[in-house]
Amino acid sequence: MSVISCSSFMETDPWGVADQPRFINAVTEVQTSLSPRPLLDELKRAELELGRQRRSRWGPREIDLDILLYNQTIIDTPELTIPHGQLTNRRFVLVQLVELDDRLIDPRCGKSLCRILRELDRT
Ligand code: AMP
Repeated sequence: MSVISCSSFMETDPWGVADQPRFINAVTEVQTSLSPRPLLDELKRAELELGRQRRSRWGPREIDLDILLYNQTIIDTPELTIPHGQLTNRRFVLVQLVELDDRLIDPRCGKSLCRILRELDRT
């Protein structure tokens, strides 16, 4: 797997459980020969290597690696949702994705991420 590009880092308020430190978020574009499910397994392995401890779902964490988009693939299985389930309602994720590539499209609705971001900002 090779990293093609990386967004800037953004500090955000915690979701779900408010009484915890802020998060630092970044988005990277990677090139990989792995298909989505093996890629998820690889990310889980990397999280453990980087020292992730198993705690509550919404609590603080050392590292959290998610698959946001995988080309224009759509997957809905119990273990894996692509595009990521929170892609279109977390502003910072959209901002960072658009920073990497402002032509990205959400394969579920066919809209550009730029447009989804503009619509989110209007609500
Ligand atoms: P997390 O708490 O972020 O480590 O994720 C918990 C679980 O979410 C993982 O074990 C995955 O099975 C599941 N999951 C579903 N969709 C995704 C995705 N797009 N990226 C990463 N994890 C996902």
